[in-house]
Amino acid sequence: MVNAERVCTALNTTTNSIRQAHVARKWVERTHGMEHGMEWIDLPNGGGCWYVNRGDTYDATLCKVSDSLGSFEWIEASWGGVYEDAQQKHFDETGEQSCCNCGVYAECEEHSGKNWHGWACEPCRTQEVK
Ligand SMILES: [Zn+2]
Repeated sequence: MVNAERVCTALNTTTNSIRQAHVARKWVERTHGMEHGMEWIDLPNGGGCWYVNRGDTYDATLCKVSDSLGSFEWIEASWGGVYEDAQQKHFDETGEQSCCNCGVYAECEEHSGKNWHGWACEPCRTQEVK
């Protein structure tokens, strides 16, 4: 069995994205017994993350993390972890995080850290009170 590091190295040098997805899904299936296909989440940097869905947010899987310019890197991680890291990085650079209710990026005083689904923007907070 090829380990995660080696399969990621191979995926990073493969240019055909359909081929990448095929290899990634096969590897996850062989390693973990099953997989539920490729899924995508948007990241705050304008890029996103393709990942082999294993069912749970924090399951270690193969992720293709890309930036807004389209360069990418395959890594072994959970999509939840990739998303949290990207949220933290975005907050460090801009002081913004995404609202758990409407998804909009807005300035906030303090990052909610790991609990990224816990913060609501001003309009959403005032709506909740009404
Ligand atoms: Zn909101």
